[in-house]
Amino acid sequence: MTTTAPERHEFQAEISQLLDIVIHSLYTDKEIFVRELISNAADALEKLKFLQTSGKPVFQPEAELKIAIDTDDAVHTVAFTDTGIGMTREELIENLGTIAHSGSKAFLKQLAENKGDANLIGQFGVGFYSAFMVGDKVSVYSRSYEEAEQGWCWTSDGVGGYEIESVENLPRGTKIVVHLKEDEKRFAEKFTIEGVIKRYSNFVSAPIELNGEKVNTVKAIWSRSKSEITDEEYKEFFHYISHESSDPSYRLHFNADAPISIQALLFVPERSMEKIAMTRSESAVNLYCRRILIQPHAKGLFPDWLRFLKGVVDSEDLPLNISRETMQDSALMQKLNKVLTGRFLKLLAEESATDPVKYDRFFLEFGHCLKEGAVNDYTHREPLTKLLRFESSFTEKGKLTSLTDYVGRMAEGQKEIFYVLAPNRENAETSPYYEGLKANNFECLFLADPVDEFVMEHLRQFDGRDLKPAEKAEIDIEPTGDAGLDQEAAKSLAAFFQKTLGSERVNEVRVSKRLANSPAVALESDKMLTTSMRRMMKQMNAGAGGMGMPEGKPDFEINPGHAVMVRLEAMRAKDAALAAKVAEQIFDSALVTAGMLEDPRAMIKRMNDLMEKLLEEK
Ligand code: ADP
Ligand code: MG
Repeated sequence: MTTTAPERHEFQAEISQLLDIVIHSLYTDKEIFVRELISNAADALEKLKFLQTSGKPVFQPEAELKIAIDTDDAVHTVAFTDTGIGMTREELIENLGTIAHSGSKAFLKQLAENKGDANLIGQFGVGFYSAFMVGDKVSVYSRSYEEAEQGWCWTSDGVGGYEIESVENLPRGTKIVVHLKEDEKRFAEKFTIEGVIKRYSNFVSAPIELNGEKVNTVKAIWSRSKSEITDEEYKEFFHYISHESSDPSYRLHFNADAPISIQALLFVPERSMEKIAMTRSESAVNLYCRRILIQPHAKGLFPDWLRFLKGVVDSEDLPLNISRETMQDSALMQKLNKVLTGRFLKLLAEESATDPVKYDRFFLEFGHCLKEGAVNDYTHREPLTKLLRFESSFTEKGKLTSLTDYVGRMAEGQKEIFYVLAPNRENAETSPYYEGLKANNFECLFLADPVDEFVMEHLRQFDGRDLKPAEKAEIDIEPTGDAGLDQEAAKSLAAFFQKTLGSERVNEVRVSKRLANSPAVALESDKMLTTSMRRMMKQMNAGAGGMGMPEGKPDFEINPGHAVMVRLEAMRAKDAALAAKVAEQIFDSALVTAGMLEDPRAMIKRMNDLMEKLLEEK
């Protein structure tokens, strides 16, 4: 059949690397190559259907839209044939020889680190290469839908490169022949392939024939009535569209007629791909009009923070011949977006009320998206804020609370919602900023994610109450007894600190009313900032040599009830030099606690001096 000599091409370096891992290191779930090749064939058919419906001329318009799979256990091959859009020579080179998708690098990295789950291959947009898990040679025969084109054959053993040659008399579409490796011959048996199709590909919207017999039932699941669909079917559909093997955590299937016709079937996966792959995911909801795919992974259908949703939206009101660019910001798309987002937020509100434990699990996976929405999406801020969850001093370790519940528990006389940012619960509980709240039995949110503080900063208020960093809280602890310094002595000690530290190091020294256990605390003096915000700004500005940093020395508060302060006040009269050294040490320790000490060298030297002194006297 061939007319020209084969032309040799090398794989792009990343493809070679990827194939090397696919061929040598992926041992599990080899059968998923069937799912991936069928999914590519189905995509090609959907694209063709779209072209035809929008009136484009195609080569061989009469060809039936279907997928044919043929096994041959005499020569150990399995072939996947579709009558879809096909590929030109350039497209074969581009699609099968280079990595065009951003996710593929992430997949490669993950595989290299040996955390690779072969099952995820399709999600990273490199599903085709899974054929090399079972095949030692793969041939792709393809004829584009465009009249003026001709047929081509792409062949590779998955090592180094591939060959391309022209082939005459190919029908429209693509045929992929997998020549099976010695120990993967089972895929040349009808029985094996049939099992895999049943498992993964029941929802392909085109008929599939296996060795000439039809094997799937074609009916768009989202257009069926809810009462007819079993949980199992929903799960299978999710597996099919998401290329995932775990079950979805939430599902939303709904119809609407006004203000716009919508049939939608949406899922929340169990786990966040962004967390697994450390990349930003793109929306994976496909847009249909009367069961014809208009746009896979449609942009603009949902706000960005809902990019973790998977599923299908079908609207009869969509014009078929609209270009994707104009569609993205059309009024129609905005209407769809509004209805869909509203429905989904309602679902989350309901789910969080009926099963809070499950909701918390969801939040731990996708909370970062909701937080992003609460900050950026002003239209949905209010419902989103109610969906946020945080750990707090009133929850058990690892359990979360909503702001609504926090407000419901607020103590008499408490006007604000308090929070403290700390890397973990233990740190939060021993934070000097939290001592005053604890003594007053005021609840305090424990924020572990630096982004949380940013969220609080943006929201400013919830339910009419200010969101307040604990370190800015004006909270007094009732003085408990007479063990500490009296007012006079405390004031004079504060003045001693001020003088010893000097205006170079400290802004204002005060006698604290907020401390229970700590001898002293350092505070951000800028009203608009917190200690952690300053720390973050410093880090971000590090490259610019500190340019753009707001000026400022910390405020410092001493605890007049603390034994250290009582003895320090007494020591001043006996040994002023030693007292000064201890004062400086207390100050530096407070800076360490606040994460504000930049250079520990002076502190360490001083500490050594003090220890020397301590030991000599004993
Ligand atoms: P993805 O399907 O996520 O894009 P794949 O590695 O599965 O990634 O496929 C790469 C590309 O190769 C597809 O995007 C498509 O352009 C092309 N392709 C693969 N199989 C077919 C086919 N049967 N018909 C037409 N194009 C195909
Ligand atoms: Mg694919």
